[in-house]
Amino acid sequence: MLEKLRSIIQEVNEASDLTSSLEIIVRRIKKSMDVKVCSAYLLDHNLGRYVLMATKGLNPDAVGKVSLAPEEGLVGLVAQRAEPVNLEHASLHPRYFYIPETQEEEFESFLGVPIIHHREVLGVLVVQQSEARDFDAEEEAFLITLSAQLAGIIANEEARDAITGFSPTGLKTTDASFEGVPGAPGVVIAEAVTVFPPADLSAIPTRKISDIKAEIAFFNECLNSVRRDISELKMKIKSQLRPEERELFDAYLHMLSDNALGAEVINHIQKGNWAQGALARVARDHVRNLESMEDDYLKERATDIKDLCSRVLFYLQEKEQENRQYPERCVLVSEELSAAMLAEVPKENLVGIVSSKGSGHSHVAILSRAMGIPAAMGIQDLPFSELDGKEVIVDGYNGRVYSNPSDDLRERFQEIVREEEQLSEGLKAIKDLPCETLDGHRVQLWVNTGLMTDVLRSIERGAEGIGLFRTEVPFLLRDRFPTEREQTEIYRQQLEAFHPKMVTMRTLDIGGDKPLPYFPINEENPFLGWRGIRVSMDHPEIFIAQVRAMMKASAGLDNLQIMLPMISNLNEVDYSVRLIKRTFQELLEEGRDVVLPEVGVMIEVPAMIYQLKLLASRVSFISVGTNDLSQYLLAIDRNNPRVAGIYSTLHPGVLRALKQIADDVQGENLKVSVCGEMAGNPGAAVLLMAMGYDVLSMNATSLLRVKSVIRNFTFQQARELMDKVLAEDDTEAVKALVDLELYNAGVDRLLRTSRNS
Ligand code: PEP
Ligand code: MG
Repeated sequence: MLEKLRSIIQEVNEASDLTSSLEIIVRRIKKSMDVKVCSAYLLDHNLGRYVLMATKGLNPDAVGKVSLAPEEGLVGLVAQRAEPVNLEHASLHPRYFYIPETQEEEFESFLGVPIIHHREVLGVLVVQQSEARDFDAEEEAFLITLSAQLAGIIANEEARDAITGFSPTGLKTTDASFEGVPGAPGVVIAEAVTVFPPADLSAIPTRKISDIKAEIAFFNECLNSVRRDISELKMKIKSQLRPEERELFDAYLHMLSDNALGAEVINHIQKGNWAQGALARVARDHVRNLESMEDDYLKERATDIKDLCSRVLFYLQEKEQENRQYPERCVLVSEELSAAMLAEVPKENLVGIVSSKGSGHSHVAILSRAMGIPAAMGIQDLPFSELDGKEVIVDGYNGRVYSNPSDDLRERFQEIVREEEQLSEGLKAIKDLPCETLDGHRVQLWVNTGLMTDVLRSIERGAEGIGLFRTEVPFLLRDRFPTEREQTEIYRQQLEAFHPKMVTMRTLDIGGDKPLPYFPINEENPFLGWRGIRVSMDHPEIFIAQVRAMMKASAGLDNLQIMLPMISNLNEVDYSVRLIKRTFQELLEEGRDVVLPEVGVMIEVPAMIYQLKLLASRVSFISVGTNDLSQYLLAIDRNNPRVAGIYSTLHPGVLRALKQIADDVQGENLKVSVCGEMAGNPGAAVLLMAMGYDVLSMNATSLLRVKSVIRNFTFQQARELMDKVLAEDDTEAVKALVDLELYNAGVDRLLRTSRNS
């Protein structure tokens, strides 16, 4: 059965569009299950009906014409219940509904299973048999398994069509929307530019061209360059080659000749496809054909085709890059954006970022926050290559992307953009005012940084210190560990820029979803694995170099405090403090003018909530990392778009844990702050203040919003809100209460914040 499943999925995967996928599905299922009929119905949102999209066995003329509402017929019943319906005598069922166009009266038994993707019923797969047949459990399981696997492929193809403006049945549609996780706050509407990793034939997007003649000339030029390379190579190593190897070079040259691969590519260019897309298409077809051959020799030839086409691609891309024009305002889109891809776009043209893979913690998300560019990450089912050249809306607050927007949707987002601009202008006025409530309760607003850009933006916005300098960011941007001297320079910049305000430098927090490109960590479960302080403890040389650099950088400024990430055992604190003190002694012995910085820990692992008093005797401060603390309390991967909807720092359990931390440190000699994204959510910041946190550290974009909200509340009001919220038992109810309170305080316009906070 597994073999059958695999082979069907593979064939469907290779189909070029939704119609052919569905045709393959019904044909293969009909044969595999030995039934008289197999049909596929898909939901058309425009119609609100399940439309017959493909069939083997029913009248083919009914395809695209026959449809059922969810309350109609057995197909509707499967969709409504979102579960299989298996009937030996379908005609006896009260929901049986005969549609003359399908000519299905002679089919007695019926098995229908829903096609479900992300909880949504996309359609229904049906098999039918003339005679009464009791489909057994195994047959039902086969169809369910197949349907579950096909759902993703169908969703993807539907998404492609939606981007080009069509529903599954070919009706005009708008507002295709794709969900992921927030990368950097803000909203932008602009043209998408799809970028892809170089020299990767499988990643080339489709792109239409108008000047076909020029494209063919360009392709021929690149093809000639490869021919020349191969001929030269052959001449160079001729004497070392055996005759059969020489033949291989000739075979390569033959493949590149005008009437072989080259001609096929030109054929596709003539249909309006750009040269890279045409080449990728031809390569894919040949490789697929060759790889499916029984003969080992022929199978091997697939490698030759890939190699040759990659060589041609290299020239096409090199020349393309030289001439590349970016739109004035462009949203960079890719399957997996890298820092190098960002760097290729002129800074003034880049206004938005979208990546299919990655998370709010990816390298690119960190960079986009630093640059203040809205970003949406981990966007599921995004046919990124189709977006090229199209208008997109990036909602960085909610991690969403819209394409093919209707006038209404565009207008709605334009309004948000306008409001945001006005808001930012208005907020400038409070930049130098203290962050205090109407009744005089003072809160410190600090900033989270990673790059110098963050530092500059946050100083402009009146940050009162750095609550979290993510030192891994400069590490991520290199191709090796930075030297102690390089680190000293980087740290010094941050310390100097903020002097005399405090700068909290966190020691390296790699692992989890932050692997260094030059220090790969491959683990089954990286968030519960070797990350943060655990790596530093196993590599004291890296840790020591870091704290040496930090202390040296702080010489004469003395505004450094050191923070330890991902502490889950007190012995990690003891060992780290010992190493820090030893390093300090060594620096003194070297004659350096350094002072021993205060040391603190992040509260990110739930176990630490129960060891606060023991921590208080060891360190000077704690900072609650609500991003990780919530992920571990809720057992929800903070970066997984599939479960993003249930991740919230306003979960009643998380709020109680935060309150308990604030209560338990009362009377202890311990400074306490929050540095997770939650602190930058204005409503949540009010709650944190009420709980007793008086240092909140956040991204630069949130600083003035939070200040504005706090300045419009009394501490008394905040305490009352906190009491009400802590009595709630549901996240949504908490959110509603907080929103209402902000509305009553007249600051609801500041509500827009990252959904992940
Ligand atoms: C956190 O976990 O809340 C935190 C601030 O650390 P990071 O987001 O860098 O893991
Ligand atoms: Mg963390």
